[in-house]
Amino acid sequence: SPPLLVADDVSKSFGATQALSGASLQVFPGEVLALTGPSGSGKSTLLHCLSGILMPDSGRVGYDGRDLGALGDRERSTLRRGAFGFVFQFGQLVPELTCLENVALPLRLAGTRRRPAEQLAGELLARLHVSDVAAKRPGQASGGQGQRVAVARALITTPRVIFADEPTGALDSRNGEQVIRLLVAAAKERGSAVVLVTHEERIAACADRIVAFQDGAAVPAAVAR
Ligand code: ADP
Ligand code: ADP
Repeated sequence: SPPLLVADDVSKSFGATQALSGASLQVFPGEVLALTGPSGSGKSTLLHCLSGILMPDSGRVGYDGRDLGALGDRERSTLRRGAFGFVFQFGQLVPELTCLENVALPLRLAGTRRRPAEQLAGELLARLHVSDVAAKRPGQASGGQGQRVAVARALITTPRVIFADEPTGALDSRNGEQVIRLLVAAAKERGSAVVLVTHEERIAACADRIVAFQDGAAVPAAVAR
């Protein structure tokens, strides 16, 4: 099948810093792809370009055959809400809501009524083995529990792609690996692709495919392996 996401010769600078220099990447439907490489090699910047949060200076980003750069801001944000899910290093959960309400939130914002949204949120929390924090606020959950809640929130809209930027960066490696294994399994059940940025080898090893970054571009596979 054709790739779902394509970055083609993408460059991006911040002032004098060239974060991406001719980066190319393809993400296929349902695959779990890890982007690895040293800090500052451009992984997050590429993730932001792929997810339409950041516009490249040159090159092309395509999603499902459409050129992201040709879409207006509104179309891009509609696409982000509908087709993409996000998990960040620190859960970024809403502190005033319960964990259950946090997971239900993307559906509530899309117009789903409370009861069916929270029903699905409860099922996802169970799938991620964190039903016990459903009624608690994120501040009362542990780091690992909070990240599982964040994963559930990213999954609830059944996105085509989940973008995860160092989602285990704040966890110890045992906890981190558990969260990633659950993320990968739950994403695969739903057919969601995952683009996972991580500098941890053990975490990257959970992916179907690893792309190593260096100096703003992917290292050719023959060199990386
Ligand atoms: P990685 O995710 O591999 O650590 P990043 O994509 O975050 O790398 O960053 C690549 C380079 O671009 C780094 O030198 C970083 O400091 C710089 N950079 C990233 N985002 C910004 C920004 N918004 N403003 C200025 N510099 C940035
Ligand atoms: P990561 O750990 O994923 O590489 P960072 O902590 O470097 O991410 O960056 C977090 C956020 O800050 C990102 O949105 C990135 O674009 C931005 N950023 C990174 N480096 C710089 C920088 N030198 N100046 C301003 N913003 C930056």
